Amino acid sequence: MNTQETIELFDKYVISNYGRLPKAIVKGEGCYLYDADGNKILDMFPGWAVSGIGHCHPKVVEAIRNQAGQLLHIDNTFYSEPQGQLAKLLSERAFGGKCFFCNSGAEANEAALKLARLYTSGEKYKFITAEGSFHGRTFATVTATAQPKYHEGFLPLLPGFSYVPFNDIAALESAFTDEVAAVMVEPIQGEGGINIATAEYLQAIRQLCDEKGAVMILDEVQTGIGRTGKWFGYQHSDVIPDIITMAKALGGGVAIGAMMASDEISASLVPGKHASTFGGNALACSEDVAVIETIEKDGLPANAVQNCKYIVYKINQLKQKYLYNDNYLGVVLIIDL
Ligand code: PLP
Repeated sequence: MNTQETIELFDKYVISNYGRLPKAIVKGEGCYLYDADGNKILDMFPGWAVSGIGHCHPKVVEAIRNQAGQLLHIDNTFYSEPQGQLAKLLSERAFGGKCFFCNSGAEANEAALKLARLYTSGEKYKFITAEGSFHGRTFATVTATAQPKYHEGFLPLLPGFSYVPFNDIAALESAFTDEVAAVMVEPIQGEGGINIATAEYLQAIRQLCDEKGAVMILDEVQTGIGRTGKWFGYQHSDVIPDIITMAKALGGGVAIGAMMASDEISASLVPGKHASTFGGNALACSEDVAVIETIEKDGLPANAVQNCKYIVYKINQLKQKYLYNDNYLGVVLIIDL
């Protein structure tokens, strides 16, 4: 099928809830995509930040092939080694917590919010999130997402959420009542426009959570798995959160989400309180072990820092060239580097 035929198929049978580019993709390799009409495309945002080590990395494909011939899925009534191995790799690269596996970033955040309520014994029920945040599209996570455009059409949202301006410590302090069960923020707001949480802000969240007995949740769905130059975004500060959530690049192309909580907090998640049918399935986990091992072996977090410097340098050159050039009308570079 060419692109036009695929589009016609979609028009007839697929709900149109995405604004799609008119290209049907048939193959991915490294940082390139190939469309159904034979065009090669440089993919600058692979899979919405999922394919962090490139499309169809050979090690990942090999892990999927091996696992597919062995066991695809086993329900969580049983133990399976890939899930345990993946949890170990993640725990060792973060703060030594324990993992719950699910299938997406929103599900990981749902799990984190539910666990915070469980841990604070239901006496505390409120959540604070930051304006400009993005935490997902389920009812709880879209409520946590403090951007009105995502709320339109879904009111009333879940009760108990309040929003504060990002990086504003005074606003956080005044919103922090005794009923607050958790604060959830991104170390770097992705959808909100690449806003970086200051070290002081993360420290203030940590301190207030400790003082009030609340849970500090960091949404690392965009910032996790080496994308910022460290395994997790919080590692650029000296703050250790209680819970982190991850998805996207963790999967390397296969759907997975994970929530990691400290030993003490994770103990509240006992059988019957939360679950996922596909969460932690053997195929996704063995593939993700390959993702983590590849990132480590190839030194990709350091590579991200190096490439970042190069990109910033090049964009600055463009800024010099075009920003003050009268002949170049129509484009304004608004990147403040
Ligand atoms: N959290 C953050 C920071 C995100 O950027 C996203 C998705 O863009 C999500 C959560 C939701 O992840 P998913 O689309 O896998 O549910």
